[in-house]
Order: sequence, then C-alpha cells, then structure tokens
Amino acid sequence: MPFDPETLRHEFPILATEVNGRPLVYLDNAATTHNPRRVIDASSHYYEALNSNIHRGTHHLARAATEAHEKARETVAAHLNAASPDEVIFTAGTTDGVNLVANCLTPSLAEGDEILISTLEHHSNIVPWQMLAERTGATLKVIPCHDDGTLDQAAFSELISTRTKVLALTWVSNAFGTVSPVVEMTQSAKAVGAQVLIDAAQAVPHMSIDVQALGADFLVFSGHKIYAPTGIGILWGRREALESLPPWRGGGEMIKEVSFEKTTYNDLPFKFEAGTPNIEGGIALAAAIDFVNELGMDDIRAHEDALIREAAERLSAIDGIHLYGPDDRAGALSFKLEGVHHYDLGTLIDQMGVAVRTGHHCCQPLMARFGITGTTRASFAAYNTHADVEALATAVSKAAMMLR
Ligand code: PMP
Repeated sequence: MPFDPETLRHEFPILATEVNGRPLVYLDNAATTHNPRRVIDASSHYYEALNSNIHRGTHHLARAATEAHEKARETVAAHLNAASPDEVIFTAGTTDGVNLVANCLTPSLAEGDEILISTLEHHSNIVPWQMLAERTGATLKVIPCHDDGTLDQAAFSELISTRTKVLALTWVSNAFGTVSPVVEMTQSAKAVGAQVLIDAAQAVPHMSIDVQALGADFLVFSGHKIYAPTGIGILWGRREALESLPPWRGGGEMIKEVSFEKTTYNDLPFKFEAGTPNIEGGIALAAAIDFVNELGMDDIRAHEDALIREAAERLSAIDGIHLYGPDDRAGALSFKLEGVHHYDLGTLIDQMGVAVRTGHHCCQPLMARFGITGTTRASFAAYNTHADVEALATAVSKAAMMLR
C-alpha cells in the first residue's frame, strides 16, 4: 500500500478535533503521538474480552490475558530484532527504564568511575545518572555539542576512557532533532568496557531499530511516542547485561521463592517486572508496532523528513527566525523568533489551531548551552501533511507581524 498521510489521518479519531473553529494542526508529536483506531480498539478489546491478572492463573481469562501479554512481548522483540523476548522488559516508559538501569548499576560503580552523558540529554537521561553518581561517588561527565546541535566527537574521544563505566546517550534529540552516531559511539564505549544505554524515545517513532546491530547493552523507549498509550514503555537489555544486574523493585512476579530468611529471584524478563504490569498498554503497544510496520519505517521517515525540510525552509523565510539543530533532523524542528518569547508565540499560534510545544523541552542544560530559556518546537508524525506545514508557516508569520 503506498504511503498516503491523507488516508492515514482517518485512522486517528482525535485528528478531527477543532480548535477555535479551525481544524487541529497537531505538531507536538515529540511530546506524545496519537493513537490510531486499531490501537484504541486493542485497548478496548483488552478490557472487553481479556481483562484478568496474568501468569499463574488457572482460568480461561487469565490464560488469554497472559497469552496476549507475552505475544506483545514477542512483537516488541521482533521489532527491535532482539535475540529473545526474554530481553524485553515492560516498563512505564523511558524515564522508568533509565531509572531501573541506573538503580541496578549502583553496586557496579565506585569513586573514580565516570558516567558519560551528552549535552543533548532529556532530564530523564540526566537526573537518574546524577543520582547514581551521588550514591556511588562516581563522576558525571558531559559530551559537549557544536553550535549546530551535533555532538562534539573530538571531545567525546577525549572524554571516553577506561574510567568510563557508563555511556548514556540519546539517539535523537527531542529538543533539536539531532540524530547522533550512536553505533560508532557505542563501539568506542564498548572498547573501554563501559555499559551503554541508548535513550531511543525519539528514535523509535522515526527509524527501524536493530538492537543487535547497535551493540549497546540497554535501550529504552516509551509507547506514547510511537502511537501507543501513555504508561507503557520498554527496556531492552542484552541477556548477559540484564543477567549481571541485581533486581531493583521487589514484589510479586519477580521472585522464584520467598521465605522470611531468603528470596530467590525469577528468570528474565520477570526478574525486573515486579507487580502487576500495564497489561493493556503492552497489548496496545504491540498493535502500534504492527501499525508502523505496515506503513513501513522507511516510508514514515522519508515522509517526515520531507515535511521537516519544507518547514525549515518556510520558517527560515520569515524575518527574525532562528532555527536550532543540524539540517538533518529527525522528528523535531526547534526555532526562535527574535524579540518574541516562545510562550507568546506558542499561545498565539494555538489560537490559530496550531499545536506546538514551547519551553525547555526537559533539556534545561541544552538550553543553557545556547543561552536561551526555551524554543518553539514543531514535531512531526506519519499523519502530518504539507497542509500542516503550510498552516504552521502561515501562523508563525502572522504571529510575527502581530507580536513585533
Ligand atoms: N528521552 C527523550 C529523548 C524524550 O523525548 C522523552 C519524552 N519527551 C523522554 C526521554 C521521557 O519519556 P517519558 O516521559 O515517556 O518517560
């Protein structure tokens, strides 16, 4: 089936929303994407036909729910080209996955060790590592970026050393859309024996991911960035990497046997899944993954790239616009209008039906690096169209005339 965003839009009920009597132009996809009908149906179907607690149930519904839950794990594993579904841990999202790994790594770090992150990181890939550094006495180091929002690879080569125990890196910047060379950087980190975690929150919606080719130890993402509901996410870990970690949260499901004297822990993946999981969320995420695979990740990326390039061109033509990030962006386009606060710009274009995000995008250190408090960010998904870009450019130029 040829990729046709106009037809695709009909699968997303929320895109029929009107704002101030105008059709919604939704360009806030880096914050959250919408769910197509089939994902909403998968969620409803779960509550209508499967709702039950999973594992160990002897009854029909418990078996059916368990089967659907484990099938969803298999779908995620296949999508990531994981060696086994056992390497796929259901989490609440990217933040939850980073915290899980950072907490489990506590016994592996000590004073003198270094944790390496980058200037491009979202707060959720900064703060858990700062907390780990505080707990263990390790030092947090930061890879700087160039003025075009790409990482400084020469500085990275100097920073990485046998002291580096962890490299935690975002694949795609949610603020600027920068795509970092994570495969090469992972290779350098593995060569010095570091553990590597990739924040793929903004990579999964825009590109195919092959965790075996990537070579990292851990990769995390959130369902709601890839057309699935909030509250579900994935931690993928290489089997040996996951097996070497102690469990973090204790409770039901993650145990083999419990006595007051001693508890033995379950095998992967359950060792890291204490308590009743978000069963419906996992099933809906699998439906969303089937959906993007039917569309084709390459076609999605090519379509979004064309829109971003067009948006960059149209916005640059407006007097006083400054764009952030490199020319090759994935998903997100950040900009500022000289003399205008990003919040005022965002509020005004919302009146015209255009939904964008303004502010620091949970990247305060990145904003500080550029001497700003925030930007206006338009971010794209498969269902966006040239008409959306047109509406964005028109709204921003009208706002520029009104605000300056
Ligand atoms: N990392 C990146 C790059 C993100 O874009 C986001 C979400 N904006 C997160 C982490 C955090 O994701 P969540 O809030 O779903 O845990």
